[in-house]
Amino acid sequence: MRVYLSADIEGMAGITAWEEGRKSHPDYGEFRRRMTAEVAAACEGASAAGATAITVKDAHGTARNLLAEELPRPTRLIRGWSGHPFGMVQELDESYDACLFVGYHARAGAGGNPLAHTMSSMKVAEVRINDEPVSEYRIHAWAAELVGVPVAFVSGDRTLCEEVARVQPATRTFATKWGEGASQHSLHPVEAREGIRTTVTEALTGDVAAARLPLPNRFVLEVDLKSHAAAYHKSFYPGAKQAGPHSVRLETDDYFEVLRALLFLI
Ligand SMILES: [Zn+2]
Repeated sequence: MRVYLSADIEGMAGITAWEEGRKSHPDYGEFRRRMTAEVAAACEGASAAGATAITVKDAHGTARNLLAEELPRPTRLIRGWSGHPFGMVQELDESYDACLFVGYHARAGAGGNPLAHTMSSMKVAEVRINDEPVSEYRIHAWAAELVGVPVAFVSGDRTLCEEVARVQPATRTFATKWGEGASQHSLHPVEAREGIRTTVTEALTGDVAAARLPLPNRFVLEVDLKSHAAAYHKSFYPGAKQAGPHSVRLETDDYFEVLRALLFLI
């Protein structure tokens, strides 16, 4: 079984403030190790379920957070960003049997995590597809669907896990924490890792194929940018239109075009 794991940091147990995920801040080391440990736990859970190949995409910020020495073999790690529209699932293809998303978080506009955002906390107020606000989970689960790979497992904050349960109940989730205002109530890091490890094993030994997220036939993408000047500028992207002072809209029946647009609109 070939497994692809995409890892973010804002859904890891405990992390509460932006600077804790920023390389230049003294607290970053603690949360980089926490991120590595949760990813390692997911890899161990996958191996226990029979995974023979595990590709890990570091998908936070610089994409140079995970400590490769501390991941179990036979993990292969993708660091940095290629610039491919698949973004957080870069290099995912038909050869994989399942995806795992670890450390994912609530979408922009949702609350439930002081670090809720979609793609860019600095630039984006909300991303909607077909009138529904979407998270990074949804954007990348549909990318995975383009190559026919189910998202078998998602961990992160409780608000995200509730979104996943609503749109694809066959995807197993594990909530590490919940947020209230600027605060975060978190599981003990060891408990979070144990939960991730065992839930990943259960997910990969269950009905993985049921966890595919069907793609709509048509997409109306709307990105609300925090800067009205940016919305004006980005509205000149081919096929895009300005839909309001802060809003850019693009309609297509090809989801790859949505991913390509997100790369340039944000
Ligand atoms: Zn993120």
